[in-house]
Amino acid sequence: MEPLITGIHHVTAVVSDAQKNIDFYAGILGLRLVKRTVNFDAPEVYHFYYGDESGNPGSILTFFPYPGLAGGRHGKGMLNTTAFSVAVDSMGYWMERFRRWGIATKPPKERFDGELVIYFEDEDGVGLELVFNDKDNRMGFTHGHIPGDHAIKGFFNVEIWEEGYERTAGLLTEQLDHRLIAEKGNRFRFAATDSPGNYVDIICSPDSLKGLPGNGTVHHLAFSTPNAATQQDMRLKIVKRMLNPTPVLDRNYFTSIYFREPGGVLFEVATAGPGFAVDETKEQLGEALKLPAAYEDDRAELEKKLPTVTFDYEKYK
Ligand code: ZN
Repeated sequence: MEPLITGIHHVTAVVSDAQKNIDFYAGILGLRLVKRTVNFDAPEVYHFYYGDESGNPGSILTFFPYPGLAGGRHGKGMLNTTAFSVAVDSMGYWMERFRRWGIATKPPKERFDGELVIYFEDEDGVGLELVFNDKDNRMGFTHGHIPGDHAIKGFFNVEIWEEGYERTAGLLTEQLDHRLIAEKGNRFRFAATDSPGNYVDIICSPDSLKGLPGNGTVHHLAFSTPNAATQQDMRLKIVKRMLNPTPVLDRNYFTSIYFREPGGVLFEVATAGPGFAVDETKEQLGEALKLPAAYEDDRAELEKKLPTVTFDYEKYK
Protein backbone atom coordinates (compact mmCIF):
# COMPACT_ATOMS: atom_id res chain seq x y z
CA MET A 1 0.00 0.00 0.00
CA GLU A 2 1.19 3.49 -0.81
CA PRO A 3 2.20 5.44 2.29
CA LEU A 4 -0.38 8.00 3.38
CA ILE A 5 2.34 10.28 4.75
CA THR A 6 5.48 11.06 2.75
CA GLY A 7 7.27 13.42 5.15
CA ILE A 8 7.12 16.94 6.54
CA HIS A 9 4.95 19.52 4.76
CA HIS A 10 5.47 22.72 6.79
CA VAL A 11 6.06 24.24 10.22
CA THR A 12 4.06 27.24 11.46
CA ALA A 13 5.19 29.59 14.24
CA VAL A 14 3.79 32.70 15.91
CA VAL A 15 5.81 35.91 16.17
CA SER A 16 5.21 39.56 16.99
CA ASP A 17 6.43 41.74 14.14
CA ALA A 18 5.71 41.28 10.44
CA GLN A 19 8.55 43.46 9.15
CA LYS A 20 11.21 41.86 11.35
CA ASN A 21 9.96 38.47 10.20
CA ILE A 22 10.35 39.38 6.52
CA ASP A 23 13.78 40.93 7.09
CA PHE A 24 15.05 37.88 8.99
CA TYR A 25 13.77 35.03 6.84
CA ALA A 26 13.70 36.54 3.35
CA GLY A 27 16.56 38.98 4.01
CA ILE A 28 19.17 37.40 6.27
CA LEU A 29 18.37 33.72 5.67
CA GLY A 30 17.53 34.33 2.00
CA LEU A 31 14.49 32.05 1.87
CA ARG A 32 11.93 32.82 -0.78
CA LEU A 33 8.74 34.46 0.46
CA VAL A 34 6.48 32.18 -1.57
CA LYS A 35 3.14 33.44 -0.29
CA ARG A 36 1.85 36.55 1.41
CA THR A 37 -1.67 36.01 2.66
CA VAL A 38 -3.70 36.29 5.87
CA ASN A 39 -4.58 33.88 8.66
CA PHE A 40 -7.74 32.29 7.24
CA ASP A 41 -9.18 32.06 10.78
CA ALA A 42 -8.19 35.64 11.77
CA PRO A 43 -7.79 37.69 8.56
CA GLU A 44 -6.47 40.84 10.26
CA VAL A 45 -3.24 38.88 10.86
CA TYR A 46 -0.77 38.11 8.06
CA HIS A 47 0.29 34.63 7.10
CA PHE A 48 3.74 34.50 5.49
CA TYR A 49 5.12 31.36 3.86
CA TYR A 50 8.85 31.02 3.24
CA GLY A 51 10.48 28.14 1.39
CA ASP A 52 12.55 27.05 -1.57
CA GLU A 53 11.91 28.33 -5.07
CA SER A 54 8.46 26.73 -5.41
CA GLY A 55 7.62 26.25 -1.75
CA ASN A 56 7.95 22.46 -1.89
CA PRO A 57 6.81 20.41 1.10
CA GLY A 58 9.74 19.94 3.45
CA SER A 59 10.94 23.51 2.94
CA ILE A 60 8.02 25.64 4.11
CA LEU A 61 8.23 27.67 7.31
CA THR A 62 5.19 29.87 7.89
CA PHE A 63 4.38 32.61 10.39
CA PHE A 64 1.46 34.41 11.92
CA PRO A 65 2.84 37.78 13.09
CA TYR A 66 0.52 38.96 15.88
CA PRO A 67 1.52 42.55 16.74
CA GLY A 68 2.60 42.83 20.38
CA LEU A 69 2.14 39.12 21.14
CA ALA A 70 3.47 38.17 24.60
CA GLY A 71 6.46 35.85 24.70
CA GLY A 72 6.08 32.08 24.91
CA ARG A 73 8.49 29.52 26.33
CA HIS A 74 10.20 26.58 24.68
CA GLY A 75 9.71 23.35 26.57
CA LYS A 76 8.24 19.90 26.49
CA GLY A 77 5.11 19.27 24.47
CA MET A 78 6.38 21.67 21.83
CA LEU A 79 8.33 21.74 18.60
CA ASN A 80 11.29 23.83 19.75
CA THR A 81 13.75 23.78 16.87
CA THR A 82 13.37 23.85 13.11
CA ALA A 83 16.61 22.89 11.39
CA PHE A 84 17.54 23.92 7.85
CA SER A 85 19.78 21.96 5.53
CA VAL A 86 22.86 23.60 3.98
CA ALA A 87 25.93 22.31 2.15
CA VAL A 88 28.75 20.97 4.27
CA ASP A 89 31.25 23.55 2.99
CA SER A 90 28.99 26.54 3.64
CA MET A 91 29.90 27.00 7.27
CA GLY A 92 32.38 29.83 6.66
CA TYR A 93 29.81 31.69 4.58
CA TRP A 94 27.07 31.38 7.21
CA MET A 95 29.29 32.16 10.21
CA GLU A 96 30.35 35.37 8.48
CA ARG A 97 26.72 36.19 7.72
CA PHE A 98 25.70 35.64 11.35
CA ARG A 99 28.56 37.89 12.50
CA ARG A 100 27.55 40.58 10.03
CA TRP A 101 23.96 40.63 11.25
CA GLY A 102 24.77 40.22 14.93
CA ILE A 103 23.05 36.85 15.32
CA ALA A 104 24.28 34.87 18.32
CA THR A 105 25.02 31.21 17.64
CA LYS A 106 25.89 28.26 19.82
CA PRO A 107 29.20 26.52 19.04
CA PRO A 108 28.96 23.94 16.23
CA LYS A 109 28.43 20.38 17.36
CA GLU A 110 28.26 17.04 15.59
CA ARG A 111 24.91 15.30 15.98
CA PHE A 112 24.64 12.15 13.89
CA ASP A 113 27.51 11.20 11.54
CA GLY A 114 28.20 13.90 8.98
CA GLU A 115 25.85 16.47 10.51
CA LEU A 116 27.46 19.58 11.93
CA VAL A 117 24.81 21.71 13.66
CA ILE A 118 24.67 25.37 14.64
CA TYR A 119 21.79 26.63 16.80
CA PHE A 120 20.49 30.20 16.61
CA GLU A 121 17.22 32.06 17.06
CA ASP A 122 15.29 34.67 15.15
CA GLU A 123 14.47 38.01 16.76
CA ASP A 124 11.35 36.61 18.41
CA GLY A 125 13.13 33.57 19.84
CA VAL A 126 12.03 30.90 17.35
CA GLY A 127 14.57 28.06 17.68
CA LEU A 128 16.48 27.38 14.46
CA GLU A 129 19.50 25.40 13.31
CA LEU A 130 21.63 25.06 10.25
CA VAL A 131 22.68 21.48 9.61
CA PHE A 132 25.80 21.30 7.43
CA ASN A 133 25.68 18.00 5.56
CA ASP A 134 26.49 16.42 2.19
CA LYS A 135 23.40 14.24 1.74
CA ASP A 136 20.90 16.79 0.41
CA ASN A 137 20.53 17.16 -3.37
CA ARG A 138 17.66 19.67 -3.26
CA MET A 139 18.11 23.13 -4.73
CA GLY A 140 17.19 26.09 -2.57
CA PHE A 141 16.11 29.47 -3.93
CA THR A 142 18.37 29.62 -7.01
CA HIS A 143 17.78 33.25 -7.96
CA GLY A 144 17.76 34.76 -4.50
CA HIS A 145 20.56 36.89 -3.07
CA ILE A 146 22.38 34.00 -1.33
CA PRO A 147 24.79 32.27 -3.73
CA GLY A 148 23.26 28.98 -4.91
CA ASP A 149 26.01 26.87 -3.31
CA HIS A 150 25.21 28.29 0.12
CA ALA A 151 21.44 28.70 -0.10
CA ILE A 152 19.22 26.89 2.40
CA LYS A 153 17.92 23.73 0.69
CA GLY A 154 14.86 23.27 2.87
CA PHE A 155 14.38 21.72 6.29
CA PHE A 156 16.75 19.07 7.58
CA ASN A 157 14.78 18.05 10.65
CA VAL A 158 12.44 19.30 13.33
CA GLU A 159 12.96 18.75 17.03
CA ILE A 160 10.10 18.04 19.44
CA TRP A 161 10.59 17.78 23.20
CA GLU A 162 8.39 15.35 25.07
CA GLU A 163 7.82 14.19 28.63
CA GLY A 164 8.21 10.63 27.30
CA TYR A 165 8.68 9.71 23.65
CA GLU A 166 6.75 6.43 23.43
CA ARG A 167 3.19 7.60 22.83
CA THR A 168 4.25 10.13 20.19
CA ALA A 169 6.52 7.48 18.65
CA GLY A 170 3.55 5.11 18.57
CA LEU A 171 1.43 7.63 16.67
CA LEU A 172 4.26 8.35 14.22
CA THR A 173 5.00 4.70 13.50
CA GLU A 174 1.52 3.16 13.70
CA GLN A 175 -0.62 5.85 12.06
CA LEU A 176 1.72 8.31 10.33
CA ASP A 177 3.91 5.92 8.31
CA HIS A 178 7.15 6.88 10.07
CA ARG A 179 9.87 4.55 11.30
CA LEU A 180 12.68 4.97 13.76
CA ILE A 181 15.82 5.51 11.70
CA ALA A 182 18.39 6.66 14.28
CA GLU A 183 18.80 7.26 17.99
CA LYS A 184 21.46 8.75 20.19
CA GLY A 185 21.10 9.42 23.90
CA ASN A 186 17.66 10.93 24.42
CA ARG A 187 17.19 11.76 20.71
CA PHE A 188 14.98 9.48 18.61
CA ARG A 189 14.83 10.24 14.88
CA PHE A 190 11.80 9.21 12.85
CA ALA A 191 11.06 9.66 9.16
CA ALA A 192 8.45 8.64 6.62
CA THR A 193 11.07 9.09 3.88
CA ASP A 194 14.71 8.81 4.86
CA SER A 195 15.98 12.06 3.38
CA PRO A 196 16.73 15.61 4.59
CA GLY A 197 13.56 17.62 5.01
CA ASN A 198 11.65 14.76 6.60
CA TYR A 199 13.39 13.94 9.88
CA VAL A 200 11.32 14.28 13.05
CA ASP A 201 13.53 14.14 16.14
CA ILE A 202 11.83 13.42 19.45
CA ILE A 203 13.84 14.50 22.48
CA CYS A 204 12.87 12.69 25.66
CA SER A 205 13.05 15.58 28.09
CA PRO A 206 11.02 14.91 31.26
CA ASP A 207 13.05 17.45 33.29
CA SER A 208 12.28 20.47 31.12
CA LEU A 209 9.43 22.86 31.88
CA LYS A 210 6.29 22.61 29.83
CA GLY A 211 6.35 24.77 26.70
CA LEU A 212 4.02 27.77 26.73
CA PRO A 213 2.51 29.16 23.53
CA GLY A 214 3.33 32.74 22.59
CA ASN A 215 5.76 34.87 20.64
CA GLY A 216 8.70 32.82 19.38
CA THR A 217 7.07 29.40 19.55
CA VAL A 218 5.88 26.91 17.00
CA HIS A 219 2.13 26.54 16.57
CA HIS A 220 2.02 23.28 14.64
CA LEU A 221 3.85 20.75 12.51
CA ALA A 222 2.27 19.64 9.24
CA PHE A 223 2.94 16.34 7.50
CA SER A 224 2.50 15.84 3.77
CA THR A 225 -0.03 13.47 2.23
CA PRO A 226 -0.25 12.93 -1.56
CA ASN A 227 -3.88 13.89 -2.21
CA ALA A 228 -7.46 14.29 -0.92
CA ALA A 229 -8.09 10.52 -0.93
CA THR A 230 -5.00 9.70 1.16
CA GLN A 231 -5.94 12.57 3.47
CA GLN A 232 -9.37 11.01 4.05
CA ASP A 233 -7.75 7.62 4.74
CA MET A 234 -5.39 9.30 7.19
CA ARG A 235 -8.28 11.10 8.86
CA LEU A 236 -10.01 7.76 9.48
CA LYS A 237 -6.84 6.34 11.04
CA ILE A 238 -6.67 9.35 13.37
CA VAL A 239 -10.35 8.96 14.27
CA LYS A 240 -9.70 5.30 15.11
CA ARG A 241 -6.89 6.39 17.41
CA MET A 242 -9.41 8.68 19.18
CA LEU A 243 -7.41 11.84 18.48
CA ASN A 244 -10.41 13.81 17.32
CA PRO A 245 -9.24 15.34 14.01
CA THR A 246 -10.89 18.42 12.53
CA PRO A 247 -12.90 18.14 9.32
CA VAL A 248 -10.91 18.78 6.13
CA LEU A 249 -10.25 22.53 5.90
CA ASP A 250 -9.46 24.34 2.67
CA ARG A 251 -6.22 26.36 2.93
CA ASN A 252 -6.21 27.34 -0.79
CA TYR A 253 -2.70 25.94 -1.37
CA PHE A 254 -3.52 22.59 0.26
CA THR A 255 -6.30 21.10 2.37
CA SER A 256 -5.69 20.26 6.02
CA ILE A 257 -6.79 18.28 9.01
CA TYR A 258 -5.51 19.01 12.53
CA PHE A 259 -5.26 16.95 15.70
CA ARG A 260 -3.19 17.04 18.88
CA GLU A 261 -0.62 14.31 19.39
CA PRO A 262 -0.46 12.64 22.83
CA GLY A 263 2.49 14.78 23.99
CA GLY A 264 0.65 18.04 23.24
CA VAL A 265 1.99 19.22 19.88
CA LEU A 266 -0.62 20.24 17.30
CA PHE A 267 -0.16 18.09 14.18
CA GLU A 268 -1.63 18.77 10.75
CA VAL A 269 -1.84 16.57 7.68
CA ALA A 270 -1.76 18.72 4.52
CA THR A 271 -2.08 17.68 0.88
CA ALA A 272 1.03 18.13 -1.28
CA GLY A 273 -1.01 20.10 -3.83
CA PRO A 274 -2.29 22.21 -5.42
CA GLY A 275 0.62 24.35 -4.18
CA PHE A 276 1.50 28.03 -4.20
CA ALA A 277 1.27 28.60 -7.96
CA VAL A 278 -2.52 28.20 -7.79
CA ASP A 279 -3.16 31.98 -7.54
CA GLU A 280 0.02 33.57 -8.93
CA THR A 281 2.74 32.43 -11.33
CA LYS A 282 5.88 30.72 -10.08
CA GLU A 283 7.89 33.82 -11.06
CA GLN A 284 5.62 36.12 -9.03
CA LEU A 285 5.26 34.02 -5.89
CA GLY A 286 4.97 36.18 -2.79
CA GLU A 287 4.76 39.51 -4.61
CA ALA A 288 1.11 40.35 -3.95
CA LEU A 289 -1.17 40.00 -0.95
CA LYS A 290 -3.36 37.03 -1.84
CA LEU A 291 -6.73 36.56 -0.15
CA PRO A 292 -9.08 33.60 -0.24
CA ALA A 293 -12.26 34.32 -2.21
CA ALA A 294 -14.32 34.72 0.97
CA TYR A 295 -12.24 37.77 2.03
CA GLU A 296 -11.82 39.40 -1.38
CA ASP A 297 -14.79 41.74 -0.77
CA ASP A 298 -13.11 42.98 2.43
CA ARG A 299 -9.71 43.53 0.80
CA ALA A 300 -9.61 47.34 1.18
CA GLU A 301 -10.58 47.16 4.84
CA LEU A 302 -8.17 44.33 5.59
CA GLU A 303 -5.27 46.08 3.87
CA LYS A 304 -5.91 49.10 6.11
CA LYS A 305 -5.78 46.94 9.26
CA LEU A 306 -2.69 44.93 8.31
CA PRO A 307 0.69 46.50 9.19
CA THR A 308 2.51 48.11 6.26
CA VAL A 309 5.54 46.06 5.27
CA THR A 310 8.34 46.52 2.74
CA PHE A 311 10.37 43.98 0.81
CA ASP A 312 13.80 45.48 0.26
CA TYR A 313 16.43 42.76 0.16
CA GLU A 314 19.20 44.89 -1.38
CA LYS A 315 21.05 45.42 1.87
CA TYR A 316 21.02 41.69 2.62
CA LYS A 317 23.13 40.82 -0.42
ZN1 ZN B 1 -0.36 24.52 8.85
